[in-house]
Amino acid sequence: MTTDDSESQRSDAGKWAVVLLVDDQAMVAEGIRRMIADEPDIDFHYCSDPRQAVQRAVELNASVILQDLVMPEVDGLTLVRFYRNNPATRNVPIIVLSSKDDANVKSDAFYQGATDYLVKLPDKVELLARIRAHARSYLAQKERDEAYRSLQKMQDQLERMNQELERSNRELHRLSSLDGLTALANRRRFDETLEQEWQRAGRTEMPLALIFADIDFFKRYNDHYGHQAGDECLRTIAALLQHMVHRPADLVARYGGEEFVLILPDTTDEGALAVADKILHRVNELAVPHANSDIADHITLSMGVASILPQDGESAQLLVSRADQALYRAKERGRNCVEVALPVAPLRMAH
Ligand SMILES: [Mg+2]
Repeated sequence: MTTDDSESQRSDAGKWAVVLLVDDQAMVAEGIRRMIADEPDIDFHYCSDPRQAVQRAVELNASVILQDLVMPEVDGLTLVRFYRNNPATRNVPIIVLSSKDDANVKSDAFYQGATDYLVKLPDKVELLARIRAHARSYLAQKERDEAYRSLQKMQDQLERMNQELERSNRELHRLSSLDGLTALANRRRFDETLEQEWQRAGRTEMPLALIFADIDFFKRYNDHYGHQAGDECLRTIAALLQHMVHRPADLVARYGGEEFVLILPDTTDEGALAVADKILHRVNELAVPHANSDIADHITLSMGVASILPQDGESAQLLVSRADQALYRAKERGRNCVEVALPVAPLRMAH
């Protein structure tokens, strides 16, 4: 006579289906055991105590449960509900073993969650066929679920890696758009921003202004005070310029060497001139000593201002060259001053 769990030690690799029989009657259990126990692919277990049934099914990792209906203390259908409410046994196939072929009992069993229904004692061939079919489909589903879960996990990991990559790309882009010495926007960022603002100004029909600012006699400053002091001077002027603009769309960039440039969207000649005058005033106030300047005893700037309402077919380079020409005229005029680009309207009309 089979006793509880007497078979559990004999399981081996060839036994892929784990069957748990829950039945209070040892006679029935022995009958079923004889049908199943010698099958090389089935690992058979028996539990006579319904109160331990769910726990046994979980421990054994059962792939099929054979469940008696009429038992003392806990009836079989209640147990079926327990299996279904336990996450570990929720999907394990349950073959209900009933003593009678009763339509109501059968219907109730399926309603509670039974997978199959057999009348005791079932035909051996039929019992084995059903056990194998249910176990196979359950294990296949479990494998699919596990594969899906690990795939999901991999996708989550990929997603996280992508996010990190995007973050570092953004940081890289931010760093690659900064001037290393002054931490202002660099020339590349200036070019990008100018193009964007030029397009925007064209669409919104608002003027776009540039201010070029060049430190006067900066080569002489470097020669006299050394390159470290020169770098310090560039940083000081950069900080001052950055301090002079307040609107989010305004951009201060290092154009190259000792030359800086400000992009001021929605700004006319007059507006840009007012900003440039203020900068000129503040730099003179700051009075960074410059022993070798021809025009003052301190650092000064020359500035060129231009503002254009972009027309179809015009390039942003037009604005750059006009501001640059204005800067050239400021240098010509004696430095430490601001020049505004000359109006181009008459020239345009001439064409
Ligand atoms: Mg019974």
